[in-house]
Amino acid sequence: MIKTLALLGATGDLAGRFLLPALAALRAADRLPDGFQVVAAAREDLDDRSFQRTATERLERHAPHVPAAARANLVRSLRYRPTEMTDPASLGSLLSGIRQPWAAYLALPPGLHTAVVTTLGSTGLPAGSRIALEKPFGENLDSAMALNRLLTQVTRTAGEQAVFRVDHVLGLPTVQNLLALRLANRILEPVWNSRHIEQIDILWEEDLGLEGRAGYFDRSGTLRDVMQNHMLQILSLIAMELPTRLDQQALRDRKLDALRSVRPLRLDEAVTRTRRARYAAGRLPDAEGGAGRAVPAYRNEDGVDAARGTETFAEIVLDLDTERWSGTRFLLRAGKALHRRRKQVTVRFRPAEHPSYSSAPANTLRIGLDGPEDIALHLTGGVSLNPPSPTPVTLAAPPPFADLTAYGRVLLELLSGGSTLSVRGDEAEAAWRVMTPVLTAWNAGMVPLEEYAAGSAGPP
Ligand code: NAP
Repeated sequence: MIKTLALLGATGDLAGRFLLPALAALRAADRLPDGFQVVAAAREDLDDRSFQRTATERLERHAPHVPAAARANLVRSLRYRPTEMTDPASLGSLLSGIRQPWAAYLALPPGLHTAVVTTLGSTGLPAGSRIALEKPFGENLDSAMALNRLLTQVTRTAGEQAVFRVDHVLGLPTVQNLLALRLANRILEPVWNSRHIEQIDILWEEDLGLEGRAGYFDRSGTLRDVMQNHMLQILSLIAMELPTRLDQQALRDRKLDALRSVRPLRLDEAVTRTRRARYAAGRLPDAEGGAGRAVPAYRNEDGVDAARGTETFAEIVLDLDTERWSGTRFLLRAGKALHRRRKQVTVRFRPAEHPSYSSAPANTLRIGLDGPEDIALHLTGGVSLNPPSPTPVTLAAPPPFADLTAYGRVLLELLSGGSTLSVRGDEAEAAWRVMTPVLTAWNAGMVPLEEYAAGSAGPP
């Protein structure tokens, strides 16, 4: 197991909110190797003690559930080196001073990926070391392919094994549970096809607006932020043929097949099958069900360049060209500043065939993705036969037991050498290929940018 984590971008939001808390939880669960050390780096001129104080505060805020002793234990193992990532000498000196093999986690603005990977390559990647890259992986197909080529050069013989393209969604217990649902239940697989399923909705609806993250989001937009990565990964797990083994090769081969089977939209289809919108001023719900809080229109949020026309809402309907799925629609819908937070898959079955019940509500299977959600199968039962009177029956299961957070699982796999939670380079490219015609149509202004009030259900 790798015992040194170089956390590049350690003072940032991702590190403070997710990575340090996940490491503290791993420490509490005694899942980190003996002698494990984090070497934290960013430009800010801090020493070990001042970074440790910052980390302590972050952990108090974002990991209050982790026992204080485990948090303190992790904090003691943190070292900090001020580093300018764009300066090969500065990054090189950081890397030459740390124990090998290491895992370098790029919790950095995506614009730095190429420069940092190039430097990691020129200093020579020690045997067994790994590079973890956060989303977004490239900003379009060409840049993703260029980054993959660079990674291939830099990692030499180690190849994919040395690269970890993080999509933390793959580590969510409920997403892991998608596999179990399909593999461990005999009753689902025979109906998991277009003969029985009319439509599958993959929803990623958030009730938060920009929350001060214009610097990243305004350049990205919803399609690049969640659809190209998280939502297509979920689609691939739902739609793939079942792998014969659950190893990283077989699983990622099947996911790749599913992504490649998505029929590329023609430009005219990109106009009729996609929507994009951004939020206007409105009120977002609060947890207590009160009057909510006012949010400005996206175009007036701090740091937003309104002329860029970035979407905060996107909807796409896709078809898959496979024997299993030809005839089922896949609807992807994601947005910010909506009236509720709902990240789920809804599998919509076709209506019953018997003439007496053909108008009964069709079955649906709802799978919550980013808890606390559940799995619910909506069936129809008939209480009286004359006349037939369908009544809804719901079978519900609580969310699966979660021993670790998504980032906890990702970090554990990164350190232990596994890759099932890493998106392979060819998968990332296949996902960009799905989105390329949409981006082309949107960039050409062929799909109007609609508006919806913040706190509403989305564009009318
Ligand atoms: P962030 O808050 O802006 O943090 C970026 C970090 O990089 C800071 O520590 C910053 O510190 C450091 N940095 C920036 N330029 C640098 C340079 N030239 N040399 C050295 N350090 C530099 O960004 P973030 O939200 O943590 O996001 C990091 C990555 O994670 C991005 O790729 C993002 O897309 C991805 N991500 C973020 C989230 C999230 O919720 N935040 C979720 C999923 C994925 P200094 O400025 O002090 O150097």
